[in-house]
Amino acid sequence: MLIKAKKSLGQNFLIDKNIIKKIISISNVFDKDVLEIGPGTGNLTEYILKNKPNKIFLIEKDKSLCDQLKLKFQNKVEIRNEDILKIDEKNISNKKLIVFGNLPYNISTEIICNWILKLEKNFWFSELILMFQKEVADRIISKINTSNYGRLSILLNWKMNINKLFDISPNSFIPKPKVDSSLVHFTPKINYFQINKSKNLEMVTRIFFNQRRKIIKNPLKQLFNNYQEISDRLELNLNLRPQNLSLETYCNIVKEYEKLNS
Ligand code: SAH
Repeated sequence: MLIKAKKSLGQNFLIDKNIIKKIISISNVFDKDVLEIGPGTGNLTEYILKNKPNKIFLIEKDKSLCDQLKLKFQNKVEIRNEDILKIDEKNISNKKLIVFGNLPYNISTEIICNWILKLEKNFWFSELILMFQKEVADRIISKINTSNYGRLSILLNWKMNINKLFDISPNSFIPKPKVDSSLVHFTPKINYFQINKSKNLEMVTRIFFNQRRKIIKNPLKQLFNNYQEISDRLELNLNLRPQNLSLETYCNIVKEYEKLNS
């Protein structure tokens, strides 16, 4: 199949068979419903099919790739020529999905953040296996008190168990991306800190990390007139920096904010 990769759609096709096999072996898809986003030429799809899932749904934005996928897989897969950012993923299947995605890097980050923010009680997936730019994956798994720690890791770790699996070199793709990639595995947490609106966690962490180098007194003052009282109650040292506060502390700050604004 001769394909001209479209830069605008972030097309870097995975051609390294060993890596493809390694990705597929992460999850047991047998008899499960699988969603693959951005299947491209179907390199991963082909291997997923070998493991006999119940069903595979493909969502691919590029119309010409969709036509080729239809020829290649016929009725073995359900192909939708759509933009993953615009669909309602809850309606794809009534079973929990295993999601694979080697997508453009910026989209991986955007969809997972959207999904976390939108998720209410029920998760519509059982696992996510997504490719990121290595640097972004390192931010996702970063721990408190490190310079990488920030909004991304707080937001994602709030509702997900996260495992960085392995790095993938640009040589495994055609055309070669400019940076290293990493594969990250997510499963929903059964218990997570309850707040009323996930948007509030997003907002609070944005206010704190926009002033990453400043002491936390500043963002607290911005959020609360009675910041002194709040910091006493939460036992916060006002001279700490945003990177020194745990996920739990951020959730407690959100709860205080929600109490005031309910
Ligand atoms: N997963 C394939 C292709 C990777 S390239 C492989 O590993 O070989 C990324 C793919 O995502 C391309 O096929 C591109 O057309 C598709 N894509 C880009 N933006 C998308 C979007 N918003 N929704 C769905 N697919 C998208």
